[in-house]
Amino acid sequence: MSRELSAFRREARDWLAANFPVALAADPALQAVDVHGPPNTHPDHVAWKRRMGEKGWGVPTWPLAYGGGGLSRDEASVLADEMARIGAANPIVGMSVSLLGPTLLEFGDEAQKRRHLPPAARGETRWCQGYSEPGAGSDLAALQCRAEDHGDHFRVTGQKLWTSGAHYADWCFCLVRTDTTKKHEGISFLLIDMRSPGVEARPIPLIYGWSTFCEVFFTDVAVPKENLVGPLNGGWAIAKRLLQFERTGIGGARGAGAVSLAARAKAYGGTDADGRLRDGDLRARIAAHDVDARTLALMLERLRAESRADQARAGLDSVVKNAAAAVSARRRELLIEILGGQGLGWSGDAYGPDELDAVRDWLADKAKSIYGGTTEVQDNVIAKRILGLPAR
Ligand SMILES: Cc1cc2nc3c(=O)[nH]c(=O)nc-3n(C[C@H](O)[C@H](O)[C@H](O)COP(=O)(O)OP(=O)(O)OC[C@H]3O[C@@H](n4cnc5c(N)ncnc54)[C@H](O)[C@@H]3O)c2cc1C
Repeated sequence: MSRELSAFRREARDWLAANFPVALAADPALQAVDVHGPPNTHPDHVAWKRRMGEKGWGVPTWPLAYGGGGLSRDEASVLADEMARIGAANPIVGMSVSLLGPTLLEFGDEAQKRRHLPPAARGETRWCQGYSEPGAGSDLAALQCRAEDHGDHFRVTGQKLWTSGAHYADWCFCLVRTDTTKKHEGISFLLIDMRSPGVEARPIPLIYGWSTFCEVFFTDVAVPKENLVGPLNGGWAIAKRLLQFERTGIGGARGAGAVSLAARAKAYGGTDADGRLRDGDLRARIAAHDVDARTLALMLERLRAESRADQARAGLDSVVKNAAAAVSARRRELLIEILGGQGLGWSGDAYGPDELDAVRDWLADKAKSIYGGTTEVQDNVIAKRILGLPAR
């Protein structure tokens, strides 16, 4: 490691020692952030988030001018190591920084970047994604939500569906139709203030017990022209780029937390005389899963490196997204199997909080094969872009 990076490691270590509340490391639940649900209001978490936001280290590689940390990739990686070492999670999360931020950095004008990126970097604004509609999911470009030109502003009318976190969002990055005579070339990318008159978000109840997404209705909503990102009718390219960030992010999300399946399996199923998991068949399947998870992590590393070098192969984000959905589903299923009868509970004192969470997470995880584009649709992309097969 270079002298500069070693110096940065010391700087990061000192700053974290002075600013990360140690109580948060003792109980990871205190650091938990539901990006589509109510905010974590624990005072230690609030203080940690404020300090990280002011420092810009929640988005370490964003430029200083937009509230980021201005760090190089290597420095950001050192920072992540140092945070992991003391059990500090990044409190600045959500679509504001994972989807909207990188998209605005590429396509936003200076005023949009200066207005929206600093509050996102401080974790002060929450964003939702207004893409899907009742008649436009896999065929996203069929969207009908209209934005009509009214001089200095657009008037937006239409419905969005499955909008995650819309009931808590301050802003929505939204795909709207600005030309009805064309399909892909008639779509624009618009930033809509969710507190504007005419916006209504209705939560949709879900199988796993709470609501993470909404139907959103826009009725004659006035949106200033300055909120148009990129050219009029040029939103499709921006929308696709944002989906790349989304699919890569889904690939990078940790399935079923950091819990070791092997440790759980030993605790629930017992060990043999050599200290190995007693059930040999389960042992082999956990090992196979761990190999798949490691392979996925390496594939993701490759995709990120290629992306940084502007050499990302079209369609590779779809491969990563599908692999991530499969690996994550397998992990959740193995965890439920390991828990045995304790993995069948829904409520009540007979089950521990971890056991109840495992069941809800197993159900919630099924959505991973749908959001960000379904597994079947990614398969189509892989067939066309990577395998070069003809479109049907
Ligand atoms: C938990 C969750 C969160 C979400 N959050 C958001 C959000 O925040 N913002 C947002 O805009 N959207 C969100 N979505 C919506 C998501 O992007 C869509 O559900 C998804 O794109 C599929 O669209 P659809 O539901 O209309 O299904 P459809 O497009 O109607 O598809 C139905 C079925 O047909 C299959 N299918 C469709 N076309 C083809 C084809 N050409 N070839 C093969 N099979 C095909 C699909 O794979 C699927 O199995 C979310 C979805 C979920 C589950």
